[in-house]
Amino acid sequence: MSLDTTRIHCTGCDFEHFETYKPIRLKCRTDLGVVSYYPTSGWCYQCNRITDVEALPSLEEIQRHYARFYRVPSPETGWIKRLIQRFDKKYQQKCRELEAELAWRKARSAPPHCLKCGSADIAPLKFTDPNQQTADSDVDDWDILTALEYEGTPRDRRTVAKDFLHTCGGQLVHDPDDKPGSRYFWSEQVIWLDSYGAVVNQENEK
Ligand SMILES: [Zn+2]
Ligand SMILES: [Zn+2]
Repeated sequence: MSLDTTRIHCTGCDFEHFETYKPIRLKCRTDLGVVSYYPTSGWCYQCNRITDVEALPSLEEIQRHYARFYRVPSPETGWIKRLIQRFDKKYQQKCRELEAELAWRKARSAPPHCLKCGSADIAPLKFTDPNQQTADSDVDDWDILTALEYEGTPRDRRTVAKDFLHTCGGQLVHDPDDKPGSRYFWSEQVIWLDSYGAVVNQENEK
């Protein structure tokens, strides 16, 4: 897989970081099965740079993810649904995955770690539109297209990590249109962690 690299820079000093979306999956082996989750970009105070850190889903997020499998059926159709579910291998599999994920998350009291050095001294970086007040700031592709077509100038797509200050006191800015030109090739990577969040081993997915 080949992907563009975009630049993140600091408003207070000459710090810069080249960000590439890397297809990484985190996995943890538990007594009930293998649990899968994902990393996110964060600042590691130990590495003193932007790196991949664990993104731990909350119990509510896990429950929401499985919610449609656990919707209570109406009394009229409930018995049919339960009968189907008893023989539905996919449904059974989902139930096992949910049980494993819930047990893993309940037991996981350790905070998220940096995937490079293992430190928990990290700050997740959430880049949002500096002009938008609401939390949801995903830039709509259609809006950009419209702006380009009707105004002739592209919309400013720069986002800022508002809740984070660099050691110099500056803010980190991510500009998706600032592509230094280099493209990197990544294959899917799986990083295995223990139930505490320490890296056990890494492998490339076939
Ligand atoms: Zn700085
Ligand atoms: Zn680190």
